[in-house]
Amino acid sequence: MTDKYGRTIDYMRVSIIDRCNLRCQYCIPTDIEWLPPQEILTLEEIAGICRQAAAIGIRKIKITGGEPLIRKGCIDLIHMIKEITGIEQVTLTTNGVLLAQHARQLSDAGIDAINVSLDTLDREKYIKITKTDALSDVLAGISEMEKYDIPLKINSVLQKGVNENDWPQLIGLAKDRALDVRFIEMMPIGHGKGFASISNDELLQKIQEHYGPLEAVTKARGNGPAAYWHIPGFTGHIGFISAIHGKFCRACNRIRLTSTGQIKPCLCYEDHISLKEAVRSGSDEEVQRLLLTAIDRKPAGHCFEDQTMITEKHEMAQIGG
Ligand code: SAM
Repeated sequence: MTDKYGRTIDYMRVSIIDRCNLRCQYCIPTDIEWLPPQEILTLEEIAGICRQAAAIGIRKIKITGGEPLIRKGCIDLIHMIKEITGIEQVTLTTNGVLLAQHARQLSDAGIDAINVSLDTLDREKYIKITKTDALSDVLAGISEMEKYDIPLKINSVLQKGVNENDWPQLIGLAKDRALDVRFIEMMPIGHGKGFASISNDELLQKIQEHYGPLEAVTKARGNGPAAYWHIPGFTGHIGFISAIHGKFCRACNRIRLTSTGQIKPCLCYEDHISLKEAVRSGSDEEVQRLLLTAIDRKPAGHCFEDQTMITEKHEMAQIGG
């Protein structure tokens, strides 16, 4: 499916829950208002929307949240989506806290790749950022997941004055392991607005000063806008998602479904279309029509460079990142 700017739209991020078991300072403020369960789509409704999305050309689904692994039935949902004709890939992003206990089930469900969000390997800093003493659980989850032949990526957001100098340890995870470590620039969405974004270009420069010239990876890796590099001697790769300093909207391939059944054409704007009524009334044609309308309403690009233009008011945990 191609949008009016000629972009291929084949990827849908699906947030299945707005709650999380961590309270990351830039992602979930303490005063967030959680929704009553009836506001949230059922797993069958989510799978139904994915079915209609596949019918219009969506090929890849990312399960996200909040924290998807705290939603009962998350694994069942992955099974359901994997069976949809036309869906080629189902992937998951998680904070990793519950990963160890779900690793085998995720593998059995046929998950195609897993992203683990992890901003530091320092226990005290981890507690400061997430308000939870769970670093050892996350590291156990990563080790457990490595037993399966499933691509694994670590996603890190660096914050000035907090973990900006933690990149050498984070990168170290890719030294002898077949996993990628990616740095996501802080985006001015929700609580993230209060945090300055560290430029990935500057980070790349620091990494090159340390390791010497990196090799650019030209072969596509993953479904998104990350640019990948290889450090000679490393098993895994280093990726950069430069949402602020490297605007990549010309290659945007996605729409986002929130746990309340709203389709978002772009992360930056509050514009959304509700699918809840259509899916609850069982109208497949209407769900498809609304999905196509959302794709048609995708803007040419975000406006992160001018915060006064950003209209999205929700937190990243409510949108799914
Ligand atoms: N709980 C899951 C996880 O941790 O991967 C999924 C949801 S979380 C919102 C998805 C990702 O968004 C995490 O990697 C998180 O660090 C990132 N994130 C949250 N707020 C952000 C912001 N303002 N800018 C950039 N990334 C952000």
